[in-house]
Amino acid sequence: MIPFLNLKLINQAHREEIIRSLMDTFDSGWYILGDRLREFENLFAKYTHTKHAIGVGNGLDALSIILKAYDFKPQSEVIVPANTYIATILAISQNNLKPVLVEPRIEDYNIDVEKIEACITENTKAIMLVHLYGRCCNMDGINALAKKYNLKIIEDCAQSHGATYNGIKAGNLGDAAGFSFYPGKNLGALGDAGGITTNDDQLAKKIIALRNYGSEEKYVNIYKGYNSRLDEMQAAILSVKLKYLDADNLVRKNIASYYLEHIKNNKIILPEKGNEESNVWHLFVVRSNERNKFQTYLKENNIQTLIHYPIPAHLQEAYKELNRHSYPITEKICNEVISLPISPVMSMDEVQKVVEVVNQF
Ligand SMILES: *Cc1c(COP(=O)(O)O)cnc(C)c1O
Repeated sequence: MIPFLNLKLINQAHREEIIRSLMDTFDSGWYILGDRLREFENLFAKYTHTKHAIGVGNGLDALSIILKAYDFKPQSEVIVPANTYIATILAISQNNLKPVLVEPRIEDYNIDVEKIEACITENTKAIMLVHLYGRCCNMDGINALAKKYNLKIIEDCAQSHGATYNGIKAGNLGDAAGFSFYPGKNLGALGDAGGITTNDDQLAKKIIALRNYGSEEKYVNIYKGYNSRLDEMQAAILSVKLKYLDADNLVRKNIASYYLEHIKNNKIILPEKGNEESNVWHLFVVRSNERNKFQTYLKENNIQTLIHYPIPAHLQEAYKELNRHSYPITEKICNEVISLPISPVMSMDEVQKVVEVVNQF
């Protein structure tokens, strides 16, 4: 079986180093908000070229805390892609704000910048972008709109660790960015973990308080905060794994290039190639109007695949209020996408096998 993602192998590649860092943390006797977190935050700020990196409990909290820190008026509108993971939308509604969904471009699955302006009203405060499947959004168009309408740009970087757009790292392309370090992401911990990057000193100060009960000084609460901290064990693991992120992303890029060049089947639509450095290929997502049949066929041939994502936010039971509009491109994507295996530990034999099987469908 070619697994979709072999997490065990990914982490075993750094077994000794990770275990040593965990034993050091164990022996330190300090497990929350300590030196390991500070070290990782410094390393991650340096990596993204931002002034501040702040560890939090998970990716959803990262996005939610950014919005909380901006303190927009209740029911303010936040522009967000209709085609994304539910967490992006949850971060908005959790803050008593209104998600305004915008359709993607079907060629690269990311928000269609041409369609944003028509959705901006006097209540719009921010654009929450998602660099989906590892590919940076069209920032030139988005920056121009944000400037014209005085909107904050918040990046959802849960799938784009290490991607760059015109030489600028994801996480440094807007006003603030949320990262997830969930185990299966390009940079993954061994449990839940997340982070926020920003160049805004005031915002960073507020976020540091918000993640820790809204307190700067113990037992003194200036905000109604959260308990959302990146713990020392996960921080220690992430500092080790960050060293290998660029090399891992390079393997992903090579696999993606191989797929793009060698998959030749008119029943399968490949993603747009796009700019090489602006995609870290968190997922390699193809489309087929016989998606379910294709998935069964791959399974019979020992290739595991996943669907990202089968049901869009506006068709979820939890978001009936978003179902007043239809989003046909998003729905088409959800009905047709299927993610092929891609990961830093996939062998070239496995990649070739996938191509061979896909081409015979
Ligand atoms: C994974 C993910 C999140 C949420 O991250 P968690 O750490 O699971 O909370 C948010 N947005 C996107 C696009 C994701 O893929």
